[in-house]
Amino acid sequence: METDLQAENARLRDQLQNLLDQARHNEEKMHRLQGQELRLLEMESLFELLHDLLLEYPQQFNLDNVTLFLLDPEYEIQRLVEESNSEPPAGLVLLHDASSLYQYYGKEPAIEMGEFIPEVHTDWLQQLDATPSCIAMLPLERRGHLMGTLNLASVEANRFTREHGSDFIERLASIVAISLENILNQERLKRIGLTDALTGLNNRRFFDQRLKEEIMRSLRHDQPLAALFIDADYFKAINDRHGHTVGDLALMELAKRLRRYVRLQDVLARFGGEEFAILLINDGLESAVQVAERIREEVEQMAISLPGGDKLNMTVSIGVAELHSVARELRDLDEVGLALLNRADEAVYAAKDEGRNRVIYMDDAGQLIPAEQAPFSIRPL
Ligand code: GH3
Ligand code: MG
Ligand code: MG
Repeated sequence: METDLQAENARLRDQLQNLLDQARHNEEKMHRLQGQELRLLEMESLFELLHDLLLEYPQQFNLDNVTLFLLDPEYEIQRLVEESNSEPPAGLVLLHDASSLYQYYGKEPAIEMGEFIPEVHTDWLQQLDATPSCIAMLPLERRGHLMGTLNLASVEANRFTREHGSDFIERLASIVAISLENILNQERLKRIGLTDALTGLNNRRFFDQRLKEEIMRSLRHDQPLAALFIDADYFKAINDRHGHTVGDLALMELAKRLRRYVRLQDVLARFGGEEFAILLINDGLESAVQVAERIREEVEQMAISLPGGDKLNMTVSIGVAELHSVARELRDLDEVGLALLNRADEAVYAAKDEGRNRVIYMDDAGQLIPAEQAPFSIRPL
């Protein structure tokens, strides 16, 4: 009798301990999930979000294969990824049209969990050594629009099954979709605030931000950095003669030409009115003068077709300066930036004084030198 009771007691104690363990385990899981959700909602850049979803998340939740397919018909996400200048994490796929997504999900996208079927799922996962046993495919939707799909796979059987409670997975899908939408909206706002509406080029705010970053980078790596100031000649006269609309057209045309002369890493901006600025990354004075001279020639040769059939010609004056000599004496980044731009500005003024349609640079000693008198050779266009 006594022993029966003792045995019963021990059994109950075990049961209670099991329940407590289970509860603690669930609580821990909840905490981890909540932590993850909060992190996702607080993400501030697309890069951070991708990194979290595709690198951190699989580790934290012990998943073998996580991919994110995003619909990107306007190549907007692709541009953001390229601009971030870092390799996007593996597992990100950008789809430029929605057909494969709708082919998979049909008209009413819903979460799918279950066995991994190679013919159906292989294209949605990354190549892996081990074949997954089961998958969860989460359509990402906002306001009735499909944005993409987040795909999770595990080699563990029964990790995702049709019978599994899908509450947590559903929450995850909504939170990822909300975070993505938030971040894309933030990036769009940033872009609007940093872009010039007429030409589509970066604006001065963007230029000033990048100027500081590039000066820092250039000083740290002891690499050259050059600035070009480009000012359209007699632009007021173009407006006066042909009207503001033609003036706008000329600025757009000029912006289009300037674009051709900058590489991905360089910074081109409309600095204001009829003035543009370029930062040539890792270029010294000599190659910057070369670029400036080619721009000057190309603009001189360009003839803008006007609505009445007339052609409009224009010219630009360009001032060039280099960071190196300026930076040695100054400490403050703002001061260094200002000094560089002032030198390029002085050179533009000199070019105007000398009769316009010319390139003048300021050398290390602070001398203003017309490009054609440069001690190095300038190759024609
Ligand atoms: P300079 O050769 O000395 O540079 O002469 P400029 O006439 O180009 O210089 P000024 O600074 O006297 O005039 C600049 C003109 O550019 C005046 C302004 O109306 C015009 N401008 C500035 N922004 C725009 C714009 O967005 N559209 C048009 N159409 N004109 C603009
Ligand atoms: Mg001007
Ligand atoms: Mg001008």
